[in-house]
Amino acid sequence: MNCTVPSDALLDTAVEREAWMLGADTATELLERRGTSDPTTLTARLNIRVETEDWDGTGTLVMLGSYDGDVISLYREQIRALAERHDIPTAHLTAGVLAHELGHAVVPDDKLASIHPGSWRRRIGDLFGISSHAKPIAEAAANGFAFAVLRSEYPETPLVERPRVLTNPGMTAVDSASSPESHH
Ligand SMILES: [Zn+2]
Repeated sequence: MNCTVPSDALLDTAVEREAWMLGADTATELLERRGTSDPTTLTARLNIRVETEDWDGTGTLVMLGSYDGDVISLYREQIRALAERHDIPTAHLTAGVLAHELGHAVVPDDKLASIHPGSWRRRIGDLFGISSHAKPIAEAAANGFAFAVLRSEYPETPLVERPRVLTNPGMTAVDSASSPESHH
């Protein structure tokens, strides 16, 4: 499986790149072990519930999916609209979002934690009660996972050429000032 990092994926730091590769490696192992790269089948085999909701956002917030530690939610209307705008098959984007949320579920927390930046940064984060880099690292890992799944399941998908549609859906919206943070 090809686990290269798309050059257009908005990876800001070497740390995010490392997280992306962790996600991709996690996917490679899981796909081999489970014998499938279909994210719906993978999710079912891991006993993770998937709910589809028709919530279509608030106008500026682009949210395609979420994972709350128990259930993956897919926001069907937002996925459909974004896929249409970028001329990507809805099935591909839906699979990408599901795989991204599945990545949040299966990339091991201890491995994610081990690639956090230097301890001084963590101490500053602790001081203010936040972990300033945890979110981008977790997102990069989930995206690395998702694209490894997509490359296996849909090798020809246009999403591989335009990864930002999945990694930064808010930034690709022509009429939106939404930040990447809006995608969980
Ligand atoms: Zn996410």
